[in-house]
Amino acid sequence: MLLTNFALLDVAAGALKSGYQCLIEDGMIRRLERGRIDAAGAEVIDLGGRTLMPGLIDCHVHLYRTLLPPAPVMLPSLITALAGQTLRGMLMSGFTTVRDAGGADFGHKKAVELGYFTGPRLFVAGRAISQTGGHGDPRSPADTREPCACVHLTAGIGRLADGVPEVRKAVRDEIRLGADQIKIMAGGGVSSQSDPIDNLQYSDEELAAAVDEARRARTYVMAHVYTAEGIRRCIEAGVRTIEHGNFLDEDTARMMVEAGVYLSPNLVCYRVLAEQAVALGYPVGTEEKAREVLAVGTRGLAIARRAGVKASFGTDMSRTPHLMGDEFLIRAEVLPPADNIRGATLIGAEVVRMEGKIGVVAEGAHADLLVVDGDPLSDISVLTGQGTHMAAILQGGRFVKNTLAA
Ligand code: ZN
Ligand code: ZN
Repeated sequence: MLLTNFALLDVAAGALKSGYQCLIEDGMIRRLERGRIDAAGAEVIDLGGRTLMPGLIDCHVHLYRTLLPPAPVMLPSLITALAGQTLRGMLMSGFTTVRDAGGADFGHKKAVELGYFTGPRLFVAGRAISQTGGHGDPRSPADTREPCACVHLTAGIGRLADGVPEVRKAVRDEIRLGADQIKIMAGGGVSSQSDPIDNLQYSDEELAAAVDEARRARTYVMAHVYTAEGIRRCIEAGVRTIEHGNFLDEDTARMMVEAGVYLSPNLVCYRVLAEQAVALGYPVGTEEKAREVLAVGTRGLAIARRAGVKASFGTDMSRTPHLMGDEFLIRAEVLPPADNIRGATLIGAEVVRMEGKIGVVAEGAHADLLVVDGDPLSDISVLTGQGTHMAAILQGGRFVKNTLAA
């Protein structure tokens, strides 16, 4: 397939370039050259002068999440059906790769690979690992039952492990079950009931044990944590990506740069929670916590940018894929458009360890591509909505959406 007549969005340069043609073969970008590519037999697709850019990457979603009224606990089959719908929505919103931060497992990944679900390329964490009373413990303060699969754990996105031996075993088990990366809860959370945001969860020894197990399995740890103190503990333990990190300060940002640690912020979810947490079935008190972390979130992102921390794009979304692009609008308050787009392309690709293969239009990369009406560098809102401004979406060189002729 030969793509012609487009403006190429060079994400690294932060510029549009004209006069290129792009040859796709076996799902990959085989040639990308200025001028005419001679490819006899190729199907020629005229993109009508639109923008050609890499598919977007979201480094923090939850496909498999149960909190939804009226039932606090739902059947796994029903949740999986919902996940299938969410996956389709994500892809149709331009996200060709997503990293799950707890809940989705190897089965979800396989379902996409085998074509049972239409959706983005997936990097799954299995269940997030939490201490008792931590962010992954779904019990309310009034619940005195022991955590068990029948009552609690099918409802949550996590699993409980306390002490170094249990943490090691939990990491090993998630790796056995096919996790691409390991998720741990290293501090308090917005949607859980027994742990204020500034709680520090897991001991230094437990954090280090999780990292050690992940590293020996050739993978890494992503850690849920909000405060600067919590982030510093994670860096020292060898965590690779900091999830949320809203209360990041200057000193901690410098530490992140030195250690090569990524920030994985996600802000749009707090706006949704601040407005409608209780209506969505979250515990009372969630709205107030969400407002608190949203208020400082863009400040943390600005501090990260000034210090040179690599920050990926993320939304923490579960069932509202059409709102994922709104994250760009919130970030636009502190990020220039090119940086905003790099988070969802180049840096996202680094986070999932697929540099040069995704998040870029280049020879040798997968043909995960968006054909956009308009210029995202001058109007980032063309990346919002459920592909509203995307005339075509390609995944592995195949059109999953094509309205070019319309
Ligand atoms: Zn989290
Ligand atoms: Zn999350």
